[in-house]
Amino acid sequence: MDLTAFISGLPKAELHVHHVGSASPRIVAELAARHPDSPVPKDPDALAEYFTFRDFAHFIEVYISVVELIQDAEDVRLLTYEVARDMARQTIRYAELTVTPYTSVIRGIPDAAFMEAIEDARVAAGRDFGVQLRWCFDIPSELGPRAGEETARMACELGPDGLVSFGLGGPEKGWPRPLFKPFFDRARAHGLHSVPHAGETTGPQSVWDALTALGAERIGHGTSSVRDPELLAHLAQRRVPLEVCPTSNVATGAVPSLDGHPVRQMAEAGVPVTINSDDPPMFGTDLNTEYAVAAGLLELDEAGLAGLARNAVEVSFLDTPAKSRLCGEIDSYLTSWQQRNE
Ligand SMILES: [Zn+2]
Repeated sequence: MDLTAFISGLPKAELHVHHVGSASPRIVAELAARHPDSPVPKDPDALAEYFTFRDFAHFIEVYISVVELIQDAEDVRLLTYEVARDMARQTIRYAELTVTPYTSVIRGIPDAAFMEAIEDARVAAGRDFGVQLRWCFDIPSELGPRAGEETARMACELGPDGLVSFGLGGPEKGWPRPLFKPFFDRARAHGLHSVPHAGETTGPQSVWDALTALGAERIGHGTSSVRDPELLAHLAQRRVPLEVCPTSNVATGAVPSLDGHPVRQMAEAGVPVTINSDDPPMFGTDLNTEYAVAAGLLELDEAGLAGLARNAVEVSFLDTPAKSRLCGEIDSYLTSWQQRNE
């Protein structure tokens, strides 16, 4: 069954997607035009070639070159606003975008200017594209406790209106989750939700640590949870969702192949599952593609896909009336699709 058309019009929420990692070639070209001295190709054909996903090392190379293009607050605003434009084209209505203010601040963008830029883009994205953005501020683990401390400080002292959650990304090996407990304690005491990455490149213990030390309410990836039946049962019983990003998991080597992705095992164990894109252009994907992949892995039809979209809304940090509105929009889309195709 070809579900492409259904998926592309389906109103969706995305809960695990990174700010810099969402910079499409079009956006990178705009940023590169603002900084002619950058090594990133300016010619659209060369840029498309530069951006064609080859392997994980290439992803890191592209990622770093985009980070280096973000040099002032206007770059931050432009990136954020243009990411929302790309989301609207995929009928994404709501996204919790993971931003890493620390990497911009250490490159010389003042923290207050960074906050103003993302908020300005958030308001404009809602107005111009009908995309509601919220922020997850995450700690880049590889920059250690100093990054944790600064990210928590910015979240608690400067946290803008759109900030809803606190995260932890970067490598897991060598950076155990409990190391970041004091910063999560501070952010949670400030009312932020806890959504660390865990169990993506390490085993299930990292997910247990995220739950017990960091108070995780959702887990970024949690791929290795399937190796621990007790953990799967715990996630199911406590209703802790996994933010699953199938193509990313293959690209990073967390799972050997798309066919071998354990999302079905997660869902069959009763764990709430959401489908996400992580760093979409850099992994050569987008949320619509990930929904199509999930439909194959979970053997979903249109109603099943609408259920998947609802799952994401229900476990998001939107308020209850907004959740009801978006779920209502998903339901009416499904109903009218089914009526047209009877
Ligand atoms: Zn991620």
